[in-house]
Amino acid sequence: MRHALTSLALATTLLAGCGTNVVNPVTGQAERSVMSEAQEISEGKKAHEEVLKEYPPLNNPKLQAYVNEIGQRLAKQSQRANLVWTFTVLDSPEINAFALPGGYVYVTRGIMAYMESEADLAGVIGHEIGHVTARHGAQRATRQQTAGIGVLAATVFGAILEAKGVGGAGEMIGGVAQNAAAGYVAKYGREQELQADGLGAEYLSRVQLDPRNMIDVINVLKNQERFAADLAKAEGRPAPAQNSWLASHPSNDQRLETITKLAAQYKSAAPYQDEGRARYLQMMEGVAFGESADQGLTRGRNFYHQGLNIALTAPQGWKIINEAEQLTVMNAGRDAGLRLLPVPPKAGKTHEEIIRNAVKPDSGRSEARSLNGLNATHFVGTQTSQNGQRQNIELTVVTGTDGSNYAMMYLAKDAATLQNNRAQMLEAERSFRPMSAADKSAAKPWLLKTTAMPRGGFAELARSSPLANAEQQLKLINGVYAGGEIKVGTPIKIVVQ
Ligand SMILES: [Zn+2]
Repeated sequence: MRHALTSLALATTLLAGCGTNVVNPVTGQAERSVMSEAQEISEGKKAHEEVLKEYPPLNNPKLQAYVNEIGQRLAKQSQRANLVWTFTVLDSPEINAFALPGGYVYVTRGIMAYMESEADLAGVIGHEIGHVTARHGAQRATRQQTAGIGVLAATVFGAILEAKGVGGAGEMIGGVAQNAAAGYVAKYGREQELQADGLGAEYLSRVQLDPRNMIDVINVLKNQERFAADLAKAEGRPAPAQNSWLASHPSNDQRLETITKLAAQYKSAAPYQDEGRARYLQMMEGVAFGESADQGLTRGRNFYHQGLNIALTAPQGWKIINEAEQLTVMNAGRDAGLRLLPVPPKAGKTHEEIIRNAVKPDSGRSEARSLNGLNATHFVGTQTSQNGQRQNIELTVVTGTDGSNYAMMYLAKDAATLQNNRAQMLEAERSFRPMSAADKSAAKPWLLKTTAMPRGGFAELARSSPLANAEQQLKLINGVYAGGEIKVGTPIKIVVQ
């Protein structure tokens, strides 16, 4: 969770008319499009600003410059070298990469933690450049326009949804905005994905990198899925549903086959350059792994946010889900939870004002509470939903030490579930507190570091690691979860506190 409540505004403007013919830079064919190149650039620019509001860039100029340099080198070899290309590393633990029309490409520090080399990174970036050069975003916007969705909304949500999913939003109770968007916005098609792979392979070979590095990234995603399934099995839960990224993308075998074929085709570009493993590990040294201090840290059942000076503890057996705009403490059955949201200042000054403006209740009553010395107001009442239905609403508004307000929403599948979980929700609410000295010392971010593989292997490294399931996680970030040996003395990534 970050400081202020922001949200991707659903743009309602539609570009007029039903499109013009634009020549696709990759195929050379004319296609009907709602976006000319100029519009692609201007819509991309607007969407870029929205993305940065939602996902701030990583504050690491050296790494940004490094990623930009690799991106520019690849883009120069593309069919649209004329575009002004922008490459951004986002400060997000999500495993994601995406692109916007007009030449905007993003990778998260989350996906970067799982890559092994500069060539792997180039593989991801090359694929995303391919989506831009082949105008996949513009094609999607054209389809969306026919469906009556704003072009900007389609552009932003579409792009973000391309890769979102690993450990992601599917698990949430509401996830309202995302689910709504997912319902509207079609993903890239399989053909587009294969085309992006093909283009990426082409760009890699043109800068003397082996196109087969693109396969490593597919394996990163595949192994995440395997890990999630193994974890679920160990905890006696059903295997999680396939994440949206893998579901929307062609099978790895199919992509592997395509890329291998292309690699053979570009063989003339060989001998390939060194894959830049040492350089890559050096660049990743000190980059946050998992949540960063700015996003707040989840440690066991506790959540700490130093900047906001708040901490909270989940009841036994409940989970904390920390997202950009909200924090949810959820029960094991995933059907009830307490959701913490920062209240934007414009919602009001007093608790009563905030409740009136944010909830718009039809009826209800308030009661003053004190949470570890912080003033709070609990409200129970009813409100009319957007589709005109009367529904129950229950929340607590609390003011932090810096004067900012938070709402804690009581969420459950139905009234009976709420009743069954009320005691734990109340327990979570009562744990809301300013950071104590103990909280502060527990709130240390995790950082990536390079070390030489010890004799005792991952088991030895796991013993001193702050990570849960450390051995598995360390194998994941070093690309050997599904098997493979790393020789003693080889530089590898570890996570330190
Ligand atoms: Zn793609």
